[in-house]
Amino acid sequence: MSLFNAHFKNINGSDTYPLDQVIYRSPIDNSLLEVEQDRKALASKSPEEWKKLFAERRQSFKPADTSGIWSKREMVLPEIAEEDIVTMQEGFTPLFDGSALAQELQMKKLWVKLCGNSHTGSFKDLGMTVLVSQVNSMIKKGKPIKAVACASTGDTSAALSAYCAKAGIPSIVFLPAGKTSTAQLIQPISNGSIVLALDTDFDGCMEIVQQVTADNSIYLANSMNSLRVEGQKTISPEICQQMNWQVPDTIIIPGGNLGNVSALAKGFDDCLAMGLISKKPRIIVAQAAAANPFYQAYQRGFDQLVPVKAQKTLASAIQIGNPVSYPKAKRAIEEYNGLVIDVTEEELSNAAHRADRFGLYCCPHTGVALGALEKLLSQGTITKDEEVVVISTAHGLKFTEFKVAYHEKSLEKISSDFANPIFKAPAKIGPVMDILKKEMAERRR
Ligand SMILES: *Cc1c(COP(=O)(O)O)cnc(C)c1O
Repeated sequence: MSLFNAHFKNINGSDTYPLDQVIYRSPIDNSLLEVEQDRKALASKSPEEWKKLFAERRQSFKPADTSGIWSKREMVLPEIAEEDIVTMQEGFTPLFDGSALAQELQMKKLWVKLCGNSHTGSFKDLGMTVLVSQVNSMIKKGKPIKAVACASTGDTSAALSAYCAKAGIPSIVFLPAGKTSTAQLIQPISNGSIVLALDTDFDGCMEIVQQVTADNSIYLANSMNSLRVEGQKTISPEICQQMNWQVPDTIIIPGGNLGNVSALAKGFDDCLAMGLISKKPRIIVAQAAAANPFYQAYQRGFDQLVPVKAQKTLASAIQIGNPVSYPKAKRAIEEYNGLVIDVTEEELSNAAHRADRFGLYCCPHTGVALGALEKLLSQGTITKDEEVVVISTAHGLKFTEFKVAYHEKSLEKISSDFANPIFKAPAKIGPVMDILKKEMAERRR
């Protein structure tokens, strides 16, 4: 065993399993698993030594060092051979300084973590590099894995297919027919996945993929596979590193299947255990009101999760009614002084496009988180002097239909408060100058 090591552990028990075993739930009580790192081993380096090592790797051009995930490999998959890593230099995404937007919202400090500035345009790349690297390593060691499969609302499938294509591993994706954007759908098609559009919603696809992967020769890539969480959790140390190892007061993340809020908390757990940080941020999950089972459970004091039939939402990647990672997400909210809030379609649309006016280019899910910020500020639940980080989960370019419809004011029952219409004018200097004079004055900030 190398100095640094990790294994799967039951979140509600003490049974453990090696990371190269094909296993997603505890066979003892069917609980979810998590990856447990050897914290004693991690503590063999001081916080200052870790910070120095991470800073040094930032200067390196070695493939593993250029990735936000693999530059922290001891915290992620400590035992993988470097040549088995399948990376596209994911992570190290910009921490956008939202000072101008913060001023508009009358708050002190806002950053937007642009996780969608990544190879496939969403933060799903962070977890997928870990999962596909582990599968790659298992196949090389002779495990009989023939393909990797996932159910997806669009972004997971794009990430899975890209990383599998790079590694030469067959991939299978199940999508709810007609419920993804064109940009999302074309990605796995282009990367050569076996693409199945099923006549159901995400939760229906999730049931099918669990049946398909019951035979261990097809490996399950959904976030109930906790290898994904290990990649996603690096958002937390990365934000702290970008803030010179300071911790924001509050982090807001949009939630659907709830793997990512769990990951965020786990990242901070690790940072605290390693002494990299000394305080906890508050973690807030934002849901679309159309698909809000986590919000409903929160309002009932987390008595239990009652699955709902997710209604149509512009935030299609979080149109999920039966979130698999509920127990982990509940724990994250409880341990990080958190809360759950939901926003309407109009709130998410306007929040996304208000932020665009300050140089961002927001997907609808980022709109959900920004809408939650606006709402919590107006309620006083987030105070004006808090330092807030909003997690932007996908690139706006993946959601062109949403953005075009917003500006054309063709979104049903939504007032597009920040619509920016195109001016039609004859090719004559007089009418052109009339428009420019009026508009330039109005737009000065
Ligand atoms: C997956 C995804 C989410 C939600 O993450 P969960 O882990 O399912 O809660 C949010 N936004 C986008 C763009 C996503 O792809």
